[in-house]
Amino acid sequence: MKIHMFKSAILALAAAVLAGCASITTRQGDNGKMMQVKLTNGMTVPQLGFGTWTLKGDVAKESVKCAIQAGYRLIDSAQGYGNEADVWAGVVASGIPRNEVFITTKIAPDVMREGTVRASIDASLAAFGGTYIDLLLIHWPVKGKLEETWRIMEEYVRNGKVRAIGLSNCNPHHIDEILAVATIRPVVNQIEIHPYMTQQEVAGATFAKGLQVESWGPLGQGKNGVLADLEIAKIAAAHGKSAAQVIIRWHLQRGLMVIPRSSNPAHIAENLQVFDFELTPREMQVISGLNRNERTFEKNDPETFPW
Ligand code: NAD
Repeated sequence: MKIHMFKSAILALAAAVLAGCASITTRQGDNGKMMQVKLTNGMTVPQLGFGTWTLKGDVAKESVKCAIQAGYRLIDSAQGYGNEADVWAGVVASGIPRNEVFITTKIAPDVMREGTVRASIDASLAAFGGTYIDLLLIHWPVKGKLEETWRIMEEYVRNGKVRAIGLSNCNPHHIDEILAVATIRPVVNQIEIHPYMTQQEVAGATFAKGLQVESWGPLGQGKNGVLADLEIAKIAAAHGKSAAQVIIRWHLQRGLMVIPRSSNPAHIAENLQVFDFELTPREMQVISGLNRNERTFEKNDPETFPW
C-alpha cells in the first residue's frame, strides 16, 4: 500500500512539475477529457472545479492561476470569502480567455438580510473585471428573504450580467420555495458532501427537482479524518491512487459536481488526475457506507445556521 501511495505522490509531483503551473496539460481517461455535466438551462459545465474558500490575496491569485494552467476551468468563489478580486487576478494571470473559465460566486447571507443584494451583485461584477458571472448562488437560505433575492437574481440574468442562477445549502423545502416563485429555474444546489456526510436524501431530492448537485467540502475539508480513512486507503492502494483522488472519483461517479480546494501545486495537479480510473460498484458502496451524517462543522445546518 505504501509503495502505491508513494508512486501516486511521485506521479502527482511530476505532473505538477511538468505543468510547472505554467502550461496546460491534457488529462486522459473518460474518453480523454474532463467530465462535463449538462445543466437544465442547456449549459454544459466541467464536473470538477476548483474551490477557493480561505484563499486570499496572492495565495488566492497564485492558486487560481496554477489551477487554471493545470487544467481546471471552473472556479468557485463567494462574496463571503473576501477573495473575488484575487480570484479574478488569478484568472487574468492564467492567460486563459475569460469565456473559457466558468466562474461561480455566491450572495452572502448578511446582504440578503440588509436588503443590499443589488449592490452586492454589482460589487461582485466589478471584482470580476466588469465582465459577467457564470453562476450566481444564494449562499445560505436566509428565512424570509429567498423570494426577494431570487427576483433580483433573475433581473441580472435578463440583463445579461449573470448567465445562470442557483442555490447553496438548501434542503428540499427551500428548493420548493424557490420553484414556486421562479420564472428562471435554479440550476444547481451546492451542499456539503463527503464520505462522512453523503447526503443521499437531499442529493436525491435535489436531482429529482431538476437541479445539479455540487459537493462542497468534498474532502471533508481535510480535517475530520476522511482523507486518512482506512477503508479509503485500501481502495486507493488497489488503484495506485491517493485518498483524495479516490474521494473525488467517488463524487464524480455519483454524478456530482465537485470543487476541491488546495493551495499546494502538487495537490492541485493530483486532484485533476481522476479521469483515468474507475471505482467498482462495490468500492462505491463501501465509500458511501462510511456515512456518519457528520458535518465538518455542526453549525453548517441549513435549518439553523447562525450567520
Ligand atoms: P475541501 O474538502 O476541498 O478540503 C480542502 C482541504 O483539503 C485543504 O486543507 C487542502 O489542503 C486539503 N487537500 C486538498 N487536496 C488534497 C490532496 N490531494 N491531498 C491532501 N490534502 C488535500 O474543503 P473546502 O475548501 O471547504 O471545500 C471546497 C470548496 O467548496 C471551497 O473551497 C469553497 O469554494 C466551497 N465551499 C462552499 C461552501 C458553501 O457554503 N457553499 C462551504 C464551504 C466550501
